[in-house]
Parts: sequence; structure tokens; C-alpha cells
Amino acid sequence: MATFDEWLDAYDVAYHALPVRPGQQCPNCGHRTLRLVFTAPPGSGYGYASFWCDTCLEGIHLSRAPVPDGAEVQPLGLPAEERNRNIPNYRLVT
Ligand SMILES: [Zn+2]
Repeated sequence: MATFDEWLDAYDVAYHALPVRPGQQCPNCGHRTLRLVFTAPPGSGYGYASFWCDTCLEGIHLSRAPVPDGAEVQPLGLPAEERNRNIPNYRLVT
């Protein structure tokens, strides 16, 4: 299993690749199915970053992350049902 630090390194790569979707391998399972979605109040520029792998459903969650231009952002306060349509209930690496 990948450590939090390994996920953080992958996050860094994905973050700097924006607005291109993360294309590198998942630090945990090796599939190129990483996703990075921010949850933020509209126009705030800061929010929560959800970074996970659609294949093994593991990932990390970062708070107070600066939201870069072109990032995928969903508004804060969506009902859980809608939130889960964009972000699956993945296992958090801590
Ligand atoms: Zn994976």
C-alpha cells in the first residue's frame, strides 16, 4: 500500500499538470486512473482537494488547498448524493 508521502508526491505532479487530468500512475495500484477534484465555495480560490484512484479507490484529502486555474471544482455544500456522483467514497490514506 502506498504511503501518505507517496500520495502527496503524486498529488504534486497532478497539481502541476492541471488543467490536464492526471496521467501518471497511481502510487498504489499503478493504473493511470487518478482523479483530482476540488470542493470550494465559488470564487474563493481555496478549498478541499480530493485526490484518488478510480481503480483501487484509495487516495488523500487535503484542506485549504489553493484551487488552480482550470481545476475541476464542485461547489461546497452539495447534498451528499450529488457530491458522491463526482467523488466516490474512497479509502483515505493517512
Ligand atoms: Zn490505484
